[in-house]
This record gives sequence, structure tokens and C-alpha cells, in this order.
Amino acid sequence: MLQETEQIETNNERNRHSQVVNLFSFVGMAITGGLGTLSLIAADLTLGFSLIGASLVYFVAYRIHRRTNDARLPAAIIVYSLYALMIFLVYSGGVEDTGPLWIFIVSPVSLFIHGLKRGLMEISIFLAIICLVLFLPADLLSSANYASAFKLRLIYAFMTVTFLSACYEYSREQSYKDTLELSKQYEQLAYTDQLTKLCNRRGALTKLELEQPRIARNKEPLSVILCDIDHFKRVNDQYGHSAGDAVLIRIGEIFTKLIREQDTIARWGGEEFLFILPQTPADNAAILAEKIHQALQNELVLFDDVSIAITVSMGIEQMNAHQAIDEVINHADKYLYEAKNAGRNQTRPTFDPIQNQEKVTISHL
Ligand code: GH3
Ligand code: MG
Ligand code: MG
Repeated sequence: MLQETEQIETNNERNRHSQVVNLFSFVGMAITGGLGTLSLIAADLTLGFSLIGASLVYFVAYRIHRRTNDARLPAAIIVYSLYALMIFLVYSGGVEDTGPLWIFIVSPVSLFIHGLKRGLMEISIFLAIICLVLFLPADLLSSANYASAFKLRLIYAFMTVTFLSACYEYSREQSYKDTLELSKQYEQLAYTDQLTKLCNRRGALTKLELEQPRIARNKEPLSVILCDIDHFKRVNDQYGHSAGDAVLIRIGEIFTKLIREQDTIARWGGEEFLFILPQTPADNAAILAEKIHQALQNELVLFDDVSIAITVSMGIEQMNAHQAIDEVINHADKYLYEAKNAGRNQTRPTFDPIQNQEKVTISHL
């Protein structure tokens, strides 16, 4: 159940990421396309074709994203082509040495697309390359001619923008994690009974819905036991509601010790519990039911200074693949009712252990 929330949250994050990749590729395509056309009109062919080339790359990223609905490759294309374009603009100077002004786009785009850690690593490598290009000997740096103060201020300003963008990305990642944690807690609450801390009815129904297809697929039996405390009203009447609550908590603990890891026990209603037992035929569920009767017989529930003897009645139903969950519960409830009518402190249907023994022997032949 919790995995479901995680899945939904991851999908939400992926959708947001997808939308931003779409936006970045579209904006990148429009800006580089527009500026490239202006450069071509101004007869700056190298810059013009480079920008038009970048615009085509963004267009390809946009199309891939549209076609595959997977943002990973387009995102990588956007970030790495942006690095390449920025290095080219710093190297060539762009229009009248204004090219370096565009490098401030790098930090937010890179941090958003690749996250804090990878984003910062890549930005550091990018900055190292930019420094190398800026401080190349003048004869190696094509036509650009930057003043020393400009180069230093450019690097300081770039580092400042990167620092602020990283702070923003950090707080964004943190609040995303907090939200995820909070929604997990809420989901946990929605599926948990607050008194006994067992699964509640909603949790039990979800578990049954998850298990049902496995019965058909893996041909494995699943049984449920509906268990109701006998004369529980008397406990409340005699010892008070708090004693009743304490009994419910203690019974939940006793039951939890008796089940296997793959089993689920839920508080189905007031003083009713539901056991969900995957890979268990009804006759094996009856063995667990017997253990439950034994455990309660051996243990009195203590509340303040009084010891309260508790017995339960149970109904067992083995679920089949095509049975509605309601029907399974109704059958178990019908057997529970039979157990109550037969005098309580027992389970229905009953299974003959010797006959079970024979069944096992035959099935092994
Ligand atoms: P039976 O053997 O036929 O099941 O008798 P019963 O007294 O257990 O059954 P009945 O349905 O008459 O009473 C159930 C009682 O369980 C009544 C209700 O007050 C009590 N109950 C239900 N939920 C809680 C709870 O959360 N805490 C406490 N203390 N009592 C509860
Ligand atoms: Mg009841
Ligand atoms: Mg009862």
C-alpha cells in the first residue's frame, strides 16, 4: 500500500520533470532559432549556423520526448547541448562579446534536470572549462576580447547564481522528501487501526484485493478467519470501557505472535478480527484457529489488578479465485455465527485431523 503512494509520488515528480523538459526544449528552440536567424541576417554565419544547429537539437529533443514520453534522453540532450553552446559562445564571444552573458542559464537548468549532486558536479566541470577558455592566451581565443575585470566578475557572478540555484534546488528536494514522508504517514494512518495498531478494515480489504489475483495465477490457496470475542459486552459492563480497550490491544498482540510473516491480521470491526492467510488451505487455517483457542485458554488478560479470561469464536473460509471478497467474508461470518450458536469458544467448519492426514498422504502419492 505504501509502495502505491511512493509510486504515485514518483510519477508526479516524473510528470513535473517531463513538463519542464518540454518547456526547456521549446524555449531553447525558440530563443536559439530567433537569435540564429538574426545572426544570419547580420551575416554572422558561424554564430548564425551554430544557433540554428542548437535550435534543431532542441527540436529533436522535443520530438523524442513527444514520441517516447520518456524525458531522460531529451533531458540529457538539452543539458549537454546547452553546455556545448555556452562554451562556444564564451569562446567566440557571440555578438560583440556578449556571448558569456548567457552562461547564467546553465545553473538552474542543469540543477533542475540532473538534481543537486550530479548538477553541481557537471557545473563544476563546466566552470573549469569556461575558466580555461576565458584565460586562454589571446591568440588562441578566436575573436573575443574580454577585459580581465569582466572575466573575473563573470566567474564570481556565475558562482553566486550557481550557489543560489543550488540552495533553491536543495530546499526543493527537501520539501519533496518531506511531502513524500508526510503522505506515507497519512497513508499508514488510513490503513491502521488506532487502538490496536493492527490493519483496519480498509487495509484488510486492500490486502485481499492484492492477494486475489495470486490465487488464480499461482494456484495457491488463501483462507480467512473471522474471529469475534465472546461476550465482550460483559467485559465492558463489568470492568469498564478502558478494560475493554486494553483487552482488544492485548488480544491483538497475542494474535500477532501466532501468525506467519506473510499473514495479515486486521481489526475488522469493534471486537472482530480478520486473519488473512495466504498459501493456506482451510484445514491449515483450522490448525491456527486451534492454536488461538489454546493461547487464549493459557493466558488471562491483565487490566489493573483484574485478570480477564477471554474466549473467541471463529469462522473459516477458503477463498477461490472467482469469489467476490464480500462473499468470502459473508461465508466466514456464517460459520462464525454457527460457532456462536454451538456454544461459543469454537471454530466452524471443523476439520477431522485424521482425514487431513489422509488427504496429505494421498496428495503426496
Ligand atoms: P457475542 O459473544 O455474541 O459476540 O457477544 P458480544 O457481547 O461480544 O457481542 P455484542 O455485539 O453484543 O457486543 C460487542 C461489544 O463490543 C459492544 C461494544 O460496546 C464493544 N466494543 C466495540 N468496539 C469497542 C471498542 O473499541 N472498545 C471497547 N471497549 N468496546 C468495544
Ligand atoms: Mg461482534
Ligand atoms: Mg462478540
